Amino acid sequence: MSDKLQQLRAQLDGINRQLLHLLSERARMAGEFVQEQQQLGLPDAGPMEDPKLMNEMARLLPDIPKERKETKPSSPLLVSRQHQSEDTVIRVKHAEIGGASHVTVAGPCSIESVEQLYAVATAMKKAGVTVLRGGAFKPRTSPYDFQGLGVDGLKIMKQAADEIGLITISEVMSAEQIDIAAPYIDILQIGARNMQNFELLKAAGRSGKPVLLKRGLSATLEEFILAAEYIMYGGNDQVMLIERGIRTFEKWTRNTLDISAVPLLKQETHLPVLVDVSHSTGRKDILLSCAKAALAAGADGIMVEVHPNPEAALSDAKQQINIEEFNAFWKGLRDSGLYR
Ligand code: PEP
Ligand code: MN
Repeated sequence: MSDKLQQLRAQLDGINRQLLHLLSERARMAGEFVQEQQQLGLPDAGPMEDPKLMNEMARLLPDIPKERKETKPSSPLLVSRQHQSEDTVIRVKHAEIGGASHVTVAGPCSIESVEQLYAVATAMKKAGVTVLRGGAFKPRTSPYDFQGLGVDGLKIMKQAADEIGLITISEVMSAEQIDIAAPYIDILQIGARNMQNFELLKAAGRSGKPVLLKRGLSATLEEFILAAEYIMYGGNDQVMLIERGIRTFEKWTRNTLDISAVPLLKQETHLPVLVDVSHSTGRKDILLSCAKAALAAGADGIMVEVHPNPEAALSDAKQQINIEEFNAFWKGLRDSGLYR
């Protein structure tokens, strides 16, 4: 700042201090005036001040800006349509997410064994699914529940996906897990429980890997897109959003699928938007209806959990569908005419 500007700033600050002093004096005297009126029993003794002066003050005072910051329009979020009007299309190997075609992400909740993963991967490939999911680092509510196979699980997934020709996605829960998982998987998943793990979001921003960000258990859409903003702000523009249901009072579903999130996120952001029909509903019988609703609402893809033997699954046994059920689901979705 130049000397002249510094001098003017000091003078303005001085005037502001005097104005503040005068305004507080004015408030004090107005109080005294009212008290005096009451003591004299003259509540209607006429206006306290000259109305002309008051009008002039009312005209001038709103011109004082509250804060310099507010006078400057803030720049739009990186995730917003204002920042980028065209849709973000994420290209991973032979798949395109957010482009002309829908994408289906299918596979088990957790990677449990070579046999289990190969059985699902083979069936998914045969059906025409492009992205295989499978958790290796599992965010479990109880520390006594199966925590995932860790890097051994990721090795199984990489081998199966490379042999069979699938793209892979798996969850990471910490910045260290990003480094561990990166050589084995194509897309990093950040789960609902970690949507606001800001250090993880920053690390995902630095990772250079496509990221699928799940909506937090009780996250507003504003919080959801700001979490995505962390990743983009960190330098990574390959971000996808997935609605996975939110907590409400409803008990017939595990979570409540917020279908309105789909058009709103598509409207407000340029990022691909997917819907997880398994974790949002927590049940098998309404998956097809929810998937159709998601596509009708404008989703770019669907996530569904598939296990060769769901009853014996080590996590989310209730909601996973078997391969036969998946094939029926998949046929229903394709026959609906909604799946591009
Ligand atoms: C998952 O997809 O494996 C998972 C744990 O889901 P969410 O984070 O949505 O609960
Ligand atoms: Mn699961």
